[in-house]
Amino acid sequence: MKKVVKFGGSSLASAEQFKKAGDIIRSDEGRRYVVPSAPGKRYDADIKVTDMLYDCYRAAAAGESIEKKLFLIQKRYQEIIEGLSLSLTLDDEFAVIREAFENQAGEDYAASRGEYLNGIVMAEYLGYEFLDSAQYIFFDKKGNLDLERTDECLGAKLAEVERAVIPGFYGSSWDGKVKTFSRGGSDVTGSIVARAVQADIYENWTDVSGFLVTDPRIVDNPAVISTITYKELRELSYMGATVLHEDAIFPIRKEGIPINIRNTNRPLDPGTMIVESTCNKPKYTITGIAGKKGFASINIEKDMMNGEIGFGRKVLEVFEENELSFEHMPSGIDTMTVYVHQSEFESKEQNIIAGIHRAVNPDFIDLESDLALIAVVGRGMRRNRGTAARIFAALAHAHVNVKMIDQGSSEMNIIIGVENRDFETAIRAIYDIFVMSQM
Ligand code: ASP
Repeated sequence: MKKVVKFGGSSLASAEQFKKAGDIIRSDEGRRYVVPSAPGKRYDADIKVTDMLYDCYRAAAAGESIEKKLFLIQKRYQEIIEGLSLSLTLDDEFAVIREAFENQAGEDYAASRGEYLNGIVMAEYLGYEFLDSAQYIFFDKKGNLDLERTDECLGAKLAEVERAVIPGFYGSSWDGKVKTFSRGGSDVTGSIVARAVQADIYENWTDVSGFLVTDPRIVDNPAVISTITYKELRELSYMGATVLHEDAIFPIRKEGIPINIRNTNRPLDPGTMIVESTCNKPKYTITGIAGKKGFASINIEKDMMNGEIGFGRKVLEVFEENELSFEHMPSGIDTMTVYVHQSEFESKEQNIIAGIHRAVNPDFIDLESDLALIAVVGRGMRRNRGTAARIFAALAHAHVNVKMIDQGSSEMNIIIGVENRDFETAIRAIYDIFVMSQM
């Protein structure tokens, strides 16, 4: 068995957390490749080492003294090292970092040191080999991950190494400088490593016991999703569910390597399996509910619209010319509605309205703002009659007015538009009808 295990920041925030991670790794021979994040928060008001590094670098770039800031960062590592009784010192590393900061080595370099140093500590603690990701993970000239080059180089190296620690979050850009992924990007590194070694599984250890059916800030203690497909996950993440970095799926998607989201603080919980496809039936018909507020809709009316060839294209061209992507586009016989992100739309509003007038000469354009979209997602919906009926009965019962309905052809998701103020009520109503009523 070859397992890649990634530990998030809260799983490595202190020596105590490091020990839990160490116990997890040592309890399974297969856990051979470890991808650490930088130390995260130990308590709510704490500051992540990554944020401390950004802050310290900004001070350096502004020509301010960084002694105190750097000292506090080193202290975080020192406490971990002492708590683990390691005879490791990072003095030399911090001397290099100080100089690089003073010589303006760049924000990405600065942020990446959180993972780099945690990787050194982790390798020492486990007795695994340390590999600097800057030498094995590459970005292309456009700043995108160069998966082919990375796969080749990292794959060749890891074929020679039995057990290794590969820090998350960064690699090298085409000109040799350190470059990071976007925030939370250690998840992507884990996925890249899993692909390079053709792992049997990629375990992503965090501080929750998997993906929840819906947002715990809206529903108390929502149920955990035991299995979810990549496609379902993409729908839910797009609509706001966060646990895994969105780009973490792409490197392994075609390899069929499953991802298992696990909880470092509750290692016996099975967590969530993310798979390409599965016969495993979701427990509640639906797999998850997610949503976002802050949409606006542009409602366009024109008599005989349905007979006017090219109408839709001309309208959408106006959005394209204004560099605004649209979310949904439900239509009637003589009406067409375009949903967009309100914050992106506001500054372009008048240009777009004028553009639509010029392009299709409509009878009427009406705008509506403060709308929310809710996605009800589930591979199980395809085989079940009555899912939509249950959703809309629940919403009617909860006195939520539905403004828009859109079901994708995959029959795997139903998108519902409601007013912002009904957002939470709507999610609770849908959750109750599918999950609570089946408990
Ligand atoms: N440490 C980085 C962050 O805070 C990356 C990560 O944790 O995945 O975003």
